[in-house]
Amino acid sequence: MKLTNIYNLPQTFINVLSRSKYTKGKANLSVTELLQPPQLVQLRKKHWDELEEDVADKIWAIFGTAIHSVLELGADHNHLIEERIHATVDGWDISGAVDLQKQEEDGIVISDYKTAGVWAVMNEKIEWEQQLNMYAWLVEKVKRTPVKKVEIVAVIRDWSRRDAKNREDYPEAPIKVLDIPLWSYEDREEFIKQRIQLHSNASLASEIGEEYAPCSPADMWEKPTTYAVKKAGNKRATAVFQSEGEAQDKKAELGSGYEIEVRPGERTRCAEFCQVSSFCKQYRDYLEEEE
Ligand code: SF4
Repeated sequence: MKLTNIYNLPQTFINVLSRSKYTKGKANLSVTELLQPPQLVQLRKKHWDELEEDVADKIWAIFGTAIHSVLELGADHNHLIEERIHATVDGWDISGAVDLQKQEEDGIVISDYKTAGVWAVMNEKIEWEQQLNMYAWLVEKVKRTPVKKVEIVAVIRDWSRRDAKNREDYPEAPIKVLDIPLWSYEDREEFIKQRIQLHSNASLASEIGEEYAPCSPADMWEKPTTYAVKKAGNKRATAVFQSEGEAQDKKAELGSGYEIEVRPGERTRCAEFCQVSSFCKQYRDYLEEEE
């Protein structure tokens, strides 16, 4: 992976990124990779030397690392910081680095620090729940001590004091602790096994030169095309539908003076966040179809 610097940012930022201490150890897959689409993981492996990433796109990752480092200074005697835990499942070594484990009398509390936008904090993020439950499985499996709670400690990078005063459900402070549902041990293990199976299939496909199983709409953060019925000239829609037929019916019901605006869907991850999109046949085919 080549690091570029198209905005000519100070060398310090490049140094920080090139000196990153991140390693997943001897693991076949980290918890973070297990959660990623298998096709993406395989394409990244295959095209690693051809990939480019710009230092400006890594700024929030640097910020996140800084937050982690500073918070280490706040550790108490019963806190265990940044421990990487390994376990073997179905012959695969998987690992996860747990930001904070608080040892309490009746079990361990797992906290994960996130530097996130307010949207992510206010909306359900299933990936966070899955990630924390995988950590909980690793901790219980390896330490044989119950995990009693899992939580996200979110540092909100675009928090606004004005919105906090005026908007309902908006976080009251730029830091918010989110309680995450803790699954049963069996459910956590089952989920991990399913993810390993998907990655194992993709790894085999890569070895024998077959096509990968496609990424799912959820993997691609797909937003479907919608059809907005609105009064001619208005910006706001009277109603929004998933199908054109329903929108036509509504327009007919409302009578003259209404129109339908097609709001094209998109695959947000593919379009903006996937490192391998330029090597991905599934995304290329989709773009061709769209044209
Ligand atoms: S570009 Fe989209 S479809 Fe292709 S690997 Fe990335 S997320 Fe999956």
